[in-house]
Amino acid sequence: MSVLEVHQFACLSDNYGYLVHDPASGDTACIDTPDAAAVLAALAERGWRLTAIWNTHHHADHAGGNLAVKGATGCEVIAPAAESARIPGVDRPVVEGDEVTLGKHRFRVLETPGHTAGHIVYVCEPEGLAFVGDTLFALGCGRLFEGTAAQMWRSLDKLRGLAPETLVYCAHEYTQANARYALSVDGGNAQLAARAEAIARTRARGAPTVPSRLAEELATNPFLRADDPALQAALGMAEAEPAAVFARLRAGKDSFSG
Ligand code: ZN
Ligand code: FE
Repeated sequence: MSVLEVHQFACLSDNYGYLVHDPASGDTACIDTPDAAAVLAALAERGWRLTAIWNTHHHADHAGGNLAVKGATGCEVIAPAAESARIPGVDRPVVEGDEVTLGKHRFRVLETPGHTAGHIVYVCEPEGLAFVGDTLFALGCGRLFEGTAAQMWRSLDKLRGLAPETLVYCAHEYTQANARYALSVDGGNAQLAARAEAIARTRARGAPTVPSRLAEELATNPFLRADDPALQAALGMAEAEPAAVFARLRAGKDSFSG
């Protein structure tokens, strides 16, 4: 079985667009449509024919380019069923456990409510790829616009169950700001400190910090560590419910200005 190719491109102020291509079948999906012109330019540059848009959630920087991209390519639009009324051009609404395919490659849909009520992610376990939209970021997680902290913690816990070598493709380059907050709550984490230095060097040369490995997030992302005794103790929340610790971490980030 051939390996999927992922083409990543920066667009808007801090979004990443992704084209996922299966050389065997020629099928190509784009994850969200942050910027229709950028998606179409990336397709033209690669010479790839777009088969489908896979939306993660309804925000304009994720689905705002749907109609223009669909109009130019005739592709199918796959999107979370719970948000299909708010996403332009949906052909196929999907729910937890549904599969979407690129040639012979299967991606599983997982529901990860919290950032929005119907947010979904796309996971290809044999290839170790996860397209997580605005649920999990490198060293961070999405803001709670439509869900509760308890919901988001359950969603992140679901992602923690993926294979540690999974490559996590998130939708924004927020990593350096996330690192500052992570260090403010988990300053004793040596692996986090080393990662923050590596991130600063990567950004200094203008390179992306995305994707990251899930194993690295498990060790250094505070939002995946709400049940970690050392982090709980550092927050003065020893033995608290993980969802309550997560709520504190998320609220702290919302008001963090470091
Ligand atoms: Zn969003
Ligand atoms: Fe976004």
